[in-house]
Amino acid sequence: MSAEEDLKTIAAEVNVCVKCKLHVGRKKAVPGEGPADAKIMFIGEGPGFYENEQGRPFVGAAGKFLEELLATIGLTREQVFICNVVKCRPPGNRDPEIDELTACSGYLERQIRAIQPAVIVTLGRFSMARFMPDAKISAVHGQARMIDGRLVVAMFHPAAALHQPSLKQSIVDDFKKLPGLIAGAAKAAPPPPPDEPEPESHQLSLF
Ligand code: URA
Ligand code: SF4
Repeated sequence: MSAEEDLKTIAAEVNVCVKCKLHVGRKKAVPGEGPADAKIMFIGEGPGFYENEQGRPFVGAAGKFLEELLATIGLTREQVFICNVVKCRPPGNRDPEIDELTACSGYLERQIRAIQPAVIVTLGRFSMARFMPDAKISAVHGQARMIDGRLVVAMFHPAAALHQPSLKQSIVDDFKKLPGLIAGAAKAAPPPPPDEPEPESHQLSLF
């Protein structure tokens, strides 16, 4: 199956998922969206009010800010993959709970495997904790870590940064590092050589 087909299959499963209690109150599940060959994957916390209405990630105020941040590095939201650690809205926007994070983690796992992004950006504590369980976001934000062979950068959540000037400056600065990190990741892991063997006649002609 192609990465695109994998993502469609995952989204279809998420849309009818009843693996945790968050399915009870959801209007629409929010599997995530973006190109199957995205170089960057943003992982937020969970759908909020508007996301639950529309079935799309980051469409409220935090989403607008995320789009502005992307624009500062010349990207649009259509060029990146955006999703969350839980795919259904926690009631009243409460924090996702351990059993919900655990129940939902397989979907994110499969999305990462399908997309193989050069860089994963975690937005907020809950998605950071999935990759760096013991880290403090105030200490590690904006730093690239190699985790399971992939660059992961933790950033503050745009919803938090929107209302706190010091965090806002931090996330703006952290975003500016992304183009360099992506370029570095591409150099560190060049695409594998084509697996077509050289035609024999060509090889023989070398002698
Ligand atoms: N906040 C998140 O963490 N995710 C969304 O999709 C929207 C807001
Ligand atoms: Fe399923 Fe995840 Fe929604 Fe829970 S949050 S019902 S595990 S899709």
